[in-house]
Amino acid sequence: MRQEESLRCRRCGRCCQQAFIRYVEEEDLARWQREKRQGLLDVVQGEAAGSQAGRPPAACRFLSLESEGRFACSIYEARPRICQGFQPGQAKICSQHPIHQIEPARG
Ligand code: SF4
Ligand code: SF4
Repeated sequence: MRQEESLRCRRCGRCCQQAFIRYVEEEDLARWQREKRQGLLDVVQGEAAGSQAGRPPAACRFLSLESEGRFACSIYEARPRICQGFQPGQAKICSQHPIHQIEPARG
């Protein structure tokens, strides 16, 4: 398999398995304020309160099932900067990171 094929996003959703608030930075908050995305700011506020209250984290609430095994971001245009810059395979959180690749048995 060529390297560029292995690095194509498979839309498995694995990199979105943390609470939305974990991906949000100050500059995202400022951008959403400028763009009047009050709904997103409310979600952040709600998740911050839940986290302080000890509510267990769940997958990002904006992860949307498109078809079997394929996910999409339901706020793609407004998604956090971290999400915008994430490249398949760049971190262990991605299913395509080398750490998840099983070497074929030899011998
Ligand atoms: S905002 Fe979108 S891209 Fe970012 S973690 Fe949530 S579903 Fe994934
Ligand atoms: S874990 Fe990797 S392959 Fe899966 S959706 Fe995220 S970037 Fe794409």
